[in-house]
Amino acid sequence: MKQTIKDLLQIPIQNQEVSVKGWVRNERDSGEVAFIVMNDGSTPKTLQIVVDFNKIPREQVAPIKVGACLHVKGKLVASAGKGQDREVLAESIEIYGLANPNEYPFQPKKHSLEFVRENAHLRSRTATFGAVFRIRHTLAYAIHKYFNDNGFYYVHSPIITASDAEGAGEMFQVTTLPLQNIPKNEQGEVDFKQDFFGRSTNLTVSGQLEAELMALGLGKVYTFGPTFRAENSNTTRHLAEFWMIEPEMAFYELQDNMDLAEDFVKYVIGYALEHCAEDLDILEKRLLDEEKSKKQEERSPMPLLEKLKFVTQNPFERLTYTEAIEILLASPYHKKKKFQFEVKWGIDLQSEHERYLVEKHFQKPVILTNYPKEIKAFYMKQNEDGKTVRAMDVLFPGIGEIIGGSQREENYEKLKNRMEELGISTQELWWYLDTRKFGTAPHSGFGLGFERLVQFVTGMGNIRDVIPFPRYPKGAEF
Ligand code: ATP
Ligand code: MN
Repeated sequence: MKQTIKDLLQIPIQNQEVSVKGWVRNERDSGEVAFIVMNDGSTPKTLQIVVDFNKIPREQVAPIKVGACLHVKGKLVASAGKGQDREVLAESIEIYGLANPNEYPFQPKKHSLEFVRENAHLRSRTATFGAVFRIRHTLAYAIHKYFNDNGFYYVHSPIITASDAEGAGEMFQVTTLPLQNIPKNEQGEVDFKQDFFGRSTNLTVSGQLEAELMALGLGKVYTFGPTFRAENSNTTRHLAEFWMIEPEMAFYELQDNMDLAEDFVKYVIGYALEHCAEDLDILEKRLLDEEKSKKQEERSPMPLLEKLKFVTQNPFERLTYTEAIEILLASPYHKKKKFQFEVKWGIDLQSEHERYLVEKHFQKPVILTNYPKEIKAFYMKQNEDGKTVRAMDVLFPGIGEIIGGSQREENYEKLKNRMEELGISTQELWWYLDTRKFGTAPHSGFGLGFERLVQFVTGMGNIRDVIPFPRYPKGAEF
């Protein structure tokens, strides 16, 4: 295996020949020697190359600027300089690619996140985004590891579907019909019979319904795949294309579902703490720096690492939706009319309400249960009160809803009635209803928005900064 900078920073220093390939983060000509700082993505750390102009002519080194890609051969020696224990004395430099300093966007100075986003095609080379994407990888790995270690099977739910899991619009249509000349039937409607699948199809908004089918046979399963929502929400927490993790478990009731969700997120956050210490350190410093320009009340109450540790070490607060409404109604915020949206039983909690509960009232993650059935999806198990369903939302500081889940309605009649009440086609979802007709079982599951988790762990304020190539309204560059 080729040695990466990560390897070169760990091996013993023995004046041995080494080879370094990577991109220039910084360079400085000090008269007799040049210092070139390199990074190759294998680690947040950099490796310093020292070029003696007696060995390599200055003219050859002069065009090497920030952003250039090099292959350096030289000796790994102890460094006398501050800030590093080792460096490479260059013997030869092969230039793979230069970067014109008048054009390369990431010169060594501070850039706004907005500017970096406009240059997202090159941002994997920056210290901040290198850290974000390494952590993203580690979290994805931890998720698979957690489920594998706990007897779950990874199932692949379809990306093109004919069903809308939520029974609410906001879907991207998938079609091969010619847009210039759409075939119509006798009623003047689009004739989907002529479409590729012979029916209307869309990109999936959730893999849950299919995960349920698999769970009612395999026991414990999870999906981890892309999800698409054509919602026109330009928020810092919504993407048009995001990744969702959806575990679904036979024989789990709401309580088990909550226990799993809490254990699961604590595990993956703990895994990142353990395996991404250097990257988290970079992001914690970035955040402290960013918050200097914020008002005291807008700053996060804890530095990043402390916040992550806090979440892994303390039990989440669990309460019902009804209790949450009572807390909101009794809050000084409500009395001083600080909430923009009305608070009363039956409302869909707004982000400001969720954040009040989590950040001001409890100051820790919160799991809310038993929501009014009107504001939740048709498949959630109905409670005996006739008003609420066994839903659970996990709310996180700074993020709001990170997980949405429920115990599922396993009773055929109740499910069918609810679908009919809501005008959801029981004919189209015949296969879903079949699971309740044949060997139905209590079961539960939830959906975790992967990017919201990455946001929480990295402390990045905008969801567009935690996915390599964000998709959002009017944004599909790169
Ligand atoms: P919200 O109210 O925040 O829009 P939701 O109720 O639409 O969320 P669900 O349909 O329950 O969310 O989806 C499950 C999870 O997927 C959410 O808890 C969230 O973490 C994530 N999620 C939902 N919509 C988006 C989106 N547009 N972009 C990124 N993540 C999302
Ligand atoms: Mn939504």
